Amino acid sequence: TYVVTDNCIACKYTDCVEVCPVDCFYEGENMLVIHPDECIDCGVCEPECPADAIRPDTEPKMEEWVEFNRKYSEAW
Ligand code: SF4
Repeated sequence: TYVVTDNCIACKYTDCVEVCPVDCFYEGENMLVIHPDECIDCGVCEPECPADAIRPDTEPKMEEWVEFNRKYSEAW
């Protein structure tokens, strides 16, 4: 899965949301999040993010971000 990280906070762009083929972006409290079970790992959102906030969970220390993204994508 891909996850949204803290560079997204207060970012006003939604380019990522527009390109996602499965609509798995959700609004968190002050940033967007990706639902980790809905993301199909296509990667198209990553280069669209002007804040470089979208990272693959294969990078080190991403477990907490995966849980954060899950929590807020299921919050409402
Ligand atoms: Fe959506 Fe693909 Fe990005 Fe996952 S990797 S959030 S499916 S655009």
